[in-house]
Amino acid sequence: MNTETKSKVLVVGAGPVGQMATLLLACHGIPSLLIDRRQTTLTAPKAHAVNARTLEICESVGVNASHLRELGAAANEGGEVRFVSTLTGTEFGCLPYERQDDAALNATPFPLSNIPQPVFEEELIAKIKQEPLIDFRRGLECRTLQQTIECVEATLVELETDESESCSFDYVIAADGAGSRIRQSLDIEMEGPEVLSSYLMIHFSADLRQLTEGRRGVLYFLFEPEVNGALIAYNHAKTWVLMHPWNPEEEKREDYDDETCLRLIEKAVGQALPQTTIENVSPWNMSAQVAQQYRQGRIFLAGDAAHRIPPAGGLGLNSGIGDVQNLAWKLAAVIRGEAGESLLESYEVERQPVAKNNNEQSLNNAAKIFDLIIALHGLEPEKTAERFAAVSANPEAYPELAEAIEAQRPHFDSFDLQIGYRYSSSAICEPAAIPEITDVSNYQPSWDAGAHFPHRWIEVADQAVPLQNWFAPNQFTLLEGPGVQQLEGCLGAAQVQFGKDFSDALSWRELTGLADDGAVLIRPDGHIGARLDSLTKERAEAALNQILARGA
Ligand SMILES: Cc1cc2nc3c(=O)[nH]c(=O)nc-3n(C[C@H](O)[C@H](O)[C@H](O)COP(=O)(O)OP(=O)(O)OC[C@H]3O[C@@H](n4cnc5c(N)ncnc54)[C@H](O)[C@@H]3O)c2cc1C
Repeated sequence: MNTETKSKVLVVGAGPVGQMATLLLACHGIPSLLIDRRQTTLTAPKAHAVNARTLEICESVGVNASHLRELGAAANEGGEVRFVSTLTGTEFGCLPYERQDDAALNATPFPLSNIPQPVFEEELIAKIKQEPLIDFRRGLECRTLQQTIECVEATLVELETDESESCSFDYVIAADGAGSRIRQSLDIEMEGPEVLSSYLMIHFSADLRQLTEGRRGVLYFLFEPEVNGALIAYNHAKTWVLMHPWNPEEEKREDYDDETCLRLIEKAVGQALPQTTIENVSPWNMSAQVAQQYRQGRIFLAGDAAHRIPPAGGLGLNSGIGDVQNLAWKLAAVIRGEAGESLLESYEVERQPVAKNNNEQSLNNAAKIFDLIIALHGLEPEKTAERFAAVSANPEAYPELAEAIEAQRPHFDSFDLQIGYRYSSSAICEPAAIPEITDVSNYQPSWDAGAHFPHRWIEVADQAVPLQNWFAPNQFTLLEGPGVQQLEGCLGAAQVQFGKDFSDALSWRELTGLADDGAVLIRPDGHIGARLDSLTKERAEAALNQILARGA
């Protein structure tokens, strides 16, 4: 094995989060080694909802977000969640699945798209392979990590030959998934329920387009008393998952052979299916947990290693991508000697509350699903079938059913959680108070310190161009008001002047709430690091020094 490496950062785990971590580090000029013990990309579809912020981040590292969206399901295929008895049985109601409609274009250039996780990962890997700063090795497992003051020594084992080698890195990102051995080896505890419910994920191939004609959707919640669970439609023509509730204490995985799984699928669909292939069956526990620490010394947890988020709101993968976007520029600035080491403390301070909020909302929503089950099945177990038959025959006669479905709306419209999260830490100058989340669907664009700059469409030669195109993803941007006098050689931050480099239908003051001689300092991750009145070079420098913990 030749693991000799010039990499500064070891990224353990080439799931979507590890992959994106290396692309972001490369974007900041930092070489990394990405390893995964698996020889191939995962085939189980898992995530499907790739949200607007993730797509924006993809675009910023050179993975074409419009192309990614083309690979996803069209909004009229994956735009609904349906509450049904079986896939072909009675429909009790349906809700839009997150913001995929054109109105979302007011808030982002790339609305959420349903892209199967393996397809998403293949696109990132294609980009990784073109990137000279990323050394990507499969079949390599990280066995131990030892920290010194200066570095982390990693023992890496090539699984095919069992050869091991020790290599040293400045930092390690543990993106090694929900069962993170690195997290366990650091004795970092998880907080929150470990098992909310247990499922078998039955991944199967079947063309169900004819059966879903006229009622396409991405999620079908199944309420037939003997069925339960949910069907996830990754691609109506071929890729499906049945989430089948099971009890691992009383049942064995071996009890679920292909024949049994096929019978379960047919019950869920509501009819026999001649051409169906079972691709994979794997047990999975739904959890809502967040790591107590995101960092120990030079090792950082990211993605599922740091948080396990129930999947229905589509926030697992997306939160992980947000983690590494937050971490990469900070590591790069410290490695390059441009920032104080204490900048790295802000990673946990900024990202842990985001995961906690996401889990809290998921738990609230999960609790509301019981109202729906009660509306359909009643409260007396021995009368479930009777009640279900009565409600199915005449759903309109049970107003509590429509109410319970309506109460699920925030579960599937968490726009504010997806793109509205804000930060408050030492890496933001005078952060605005983070408003309590009262309505997860209600995203309010804001130019407050700590918020992500709001998306705008800017007219350039009759073309609408997203504002993000003016901000470099690998450096700070000083966005100056139209009255700012030229600041010479300002600190290495890119300078963009409103009215000179671009104009908007809104005035500068209407847009940002600042006077014409004010400015906004935008961090490489798009969050507003400082709002500056009466900009001077000294003020801008002081703000950057604070954010980058220089002299701290
Ligand atoms: C049914 C289902 C539906 C979901 N839907 C959504 C959704 O719509 N949207 C969403 O955002 N999220 C969703 N998720 C969650 C999403 O799949 C995960 O959040 C995501 O895969 C986490 O990515 P990760 O890179 O952190 O970890 P993983 O994808 O688990 O990758 C970890 C990698 O680390 C490797 N590894 C582990 N230990 C080592 C080691 N010691 N050395 C080398 N390699 C190692 C593993 O082989 C693996 O490849 C869903 C999950 C499920 C199960």
